[in-house]
Amino acid sequence: MSTASLAIRTENLTRRFGDFVAVDHLSLEVPAGQVLGYLGPNGSGKTTTIRMLLGLLHPSEGRAEVLGLDVATQPDAVRACTGYMSQKFALYGELTVLENLTFYAGVYGVKAMAPVREMLDGLGLSEVRNQRVDSLSTGWRQRLALAAAIIHRPGLLFLDEPTSGVDPVARRAFWDLIYELSAQGITILVSTHYMDEAEYCTSVGIMRAGKLLALDAPDRLKRALPGQVWEIRADPMLDALDFLEAQPFVLRAALAGDHLRVVTPNRFSADTLRAALAARAIGISSLAVGAPTMEDVFMTLSQGVEPES
Ligand code: ADP
Ligand code: MG
Repeated sequence: MSTASLAIRTENLTRRFGDFVAVDHLSLEVPAGQVLGYLGPNGSGKTTTIRMLLGLLHPSEGRAEVLGLDVATQPDAVRACTGYMSQKFALYGELTVLENLTFYAGVYGVKAMAPVREMLDGLGLSEVRNQRVDSLSTGWRQRLALAAAIIHRPGLLFLDEPTSGVDPVARRAFWDLIYELSAQGITILVSTHYMDEAEYCTSVGIMRAGKLLALDAPDRLKRALPGQVWEIRADPMLDALDFLEAQPFVLRAALAGDHLRVVTPNRFSADTLRAALAARAIGISSLAVGAPTMEDVFMTLSQGVEPES
């Protein structure tokens, strides 16, 4: 792929803090126009990656380009064409929505009022424009933080766990905004530790302990799951879970509502699974093949099992 059509390209991008490797030889290519989900648990290196891509943190090794710009040598140009909503976005509680947005517009050199008004309208913030930020719910504040991050109309937007700590309704509404921005042509990298949100993305990069385990469209990741998913209703359920978790042939076992989700290697038969449980005097009321979820993919890859091509 030519560099111009790539929004992000990294080669062995690495960041160490002392002996600790926070981001470990990350190589990825993100075509322009995508909504890339950057999925991983706390501490897996998501924020560190984003900060390097923004030119805010120097890589220890490797290189990165965003929108064709080298982050190490062109940090000012990078800053001008990227937007960033950090995990702890700074809004001024004692100022109104309008005052906050006007302030951020100034920071980015946007001097006219028209873009500020358009942004308030575009993100549905006009009705709260004169309210103090500290009187607003987290959902509204996030919306304002997003407006501030894109007031200079960047081509590439980084959202670092934007929906963390927000109720499901506000989360869904925030994702609607992400789609709207994407439809306007902005490439978006959004980090999350919510597995269900990964399903909404064009492609998903899965991080664990600083390493990129896989990067592909959610459907392809699920199809390539290196294992077979089983949905099992057993009695006693927790004995079954304990037993299965300890079996070497089980890649993943977890309680999911009223049943167990178990991942075994491919070509593992239902009969083998039934026999193993029966030998433990565990009753089975149902055992069926299940469709893989992103969580199955994540948990299985996290065990060190390679995705299938
Ligand atoms: P995530 O965003 O996925 O939660 P981070 O990128 O924030 O992960 O952090 C990855 C790891 O790097 C964590 O273990 C964190 O403690 C460590 N880390 C991040 N920043 C620093 C720093 N400035 N100094 C030392 N360690 C850091
Ligand atoms: Mg983080």
